[in-house]
Amino acid sequence: MSDCLFCKIAAGEIPVEFVYEDAEVVAFRDINPQAPVHTLVVPRRHIATLNDVQPADAELIGRLYLAAQKIAADAGIAEPGYRTVFNCNAQAGQTVFHLHLHVLGGRAMHWPPG
Ligand code: 5GP
Repeated sequence: MSDCLFCKIAAGEIPVEFVYEDAEVVAFRDINPQAPVHTLVVPRRHIATLNDVQPADAELIGRLYLAAQKIAADAGIAEPGYRTVFNCNAQAGQTVFHLHLHVLGGRAMHWPPG
């Protein structure tokens, strides 16, 4: 989508340092971090929300989690632990309508989330 912020970031049209990238996935630091480590893992292809994921995207979703696992290990937060989150639609707090997996760590997390 031509007016999608994360499509532009993934395509390199907006300069951002990628902490991870492969043929299908990019990851970069959140501009407004909610934890010492807060990275967004994003498919290059536009998918608006988790509700729009199709069975054919199953491998892609797995790739997002494997990227998150590597990002956490590289950031040194695999232990004691970290959180991964998809916010789906407005009531859950989704503000950017291009699928992204939050990777949060470096501090104690609370449950339930707000
Ligand atoms: P959501 O609220 O949709 O689950 O998460 C969107 C995230 O994108 C937010 O945490 C927000 O801080 C982050 N964000 C919004 N605009 C930008 C941007 O231009 N660059 C980066 N790196 N992060 C952004």
